[in-house]
Amino acid sequence: MKIDLNEIGNFDVCKFDDRFWNHILKNINELNNTIFNEDELSKVLKYKVKINFSFFRNIDNEPNAFVEKTNDTEYNIVLGKKLIILLMQNAYKLVDNYYIYSDLNRKQIDLMHNISQISFYVWIDFICLHELSHICRSHFKDNGKYFKFNKEVDEIHNNIFYEMDADRFAMIMATRVFSALISGIKMLTNKSDKEIIKNYLISMTYLFDLFFLIEGENKSSDHPSPLQRISFVLTAFCESIKNKNLFQVEFVELDNLANSVYEEFVLKHSEEYEPNNNYCEFAKESQVILEQYNEFLKETKLNENQLFK
Ligand SMILES: [Zn+2]
Repeated sequence: MKIDLNEIGNFDVCKFDDRFWNHILKNINELNNTIFNEDELSKVLKYKVKINFSFFRNIDNEPNAFVEKTNDTEYNIVLGKKLIILLMQNAYKLVDNYYIYSDLNRKQIDLMHNISQISFYVWIDFICLHELSHICRSHFKDNGKYFKFNKEVDEIHNNIFYEMDADRFAMIMATRVFSALISGIKMLTNKSDKEIIKNYLISMTYLFDLFFLIEGENKSSDHPSPLQRISFVLTAFCESIKNKNLFQVEFVELDNLANSVYEEFVLKHSEEYEPNNNYCEFAKESQVILEQYNEFLKETKLNENQLFK
């Protein structure tokens, strides 16, 4: 199942002309302007920061995004073209393989296209918000100038916690952004809020699965493992909806929904992710990582130092 990075350049979508690309980039820019504009940011941040978005057009780069610090109040978030192609291709796969909205008729071409595009832009949101979280959660304080999105965890032990923290806050914000889309998706698909949210969560788990397909087949050797990262992201989803009326569905129901998405994912991928099927050990390890993360929050004082109000 491993994705061959050299294949990405051969994807059909790469063959589209400049007009196609400019259209996608324009959409991403517009999307970012609504989420990351100065007014919106000043509502949630303690002081002003300027965020510039740009794209790497070179197809030879790895499928990635990164954030870099220019100075204390200015940052660049860069999305790679190869990453965008990978996401676009997989947004179609998500639909073609019946992973989401499996009961809708695939012959409704326009509807299927729209559904895949919703996932694509939700993923782009999530990745941009992940980078924004590195900025706003003060990750740059002790970490130089640079964070890559899809990075194999290196020797610096704390890095995994910075990534978990960025995932957590990205998911909280992405869910807020998604909640504003729900009435439009409802009109499009004729589905209930609950079903729409479930499909959103499935597409988010797919995004993480995708990154581990790039990294390799040995998914159980990373710490936190992909499965643990997915479980943290689903936990962040629950955090984002607790005590907030983002959706017209009870919290308990959404909490159950997140659990069922996780269980279905585990069932589907158990052999790839946990070849030993040792879930007791896995649960224990997840608990340890969560405790270490809480310890890390205390040590780094991220909650006190963050730019979020
Ligand atoms: Zn990151």
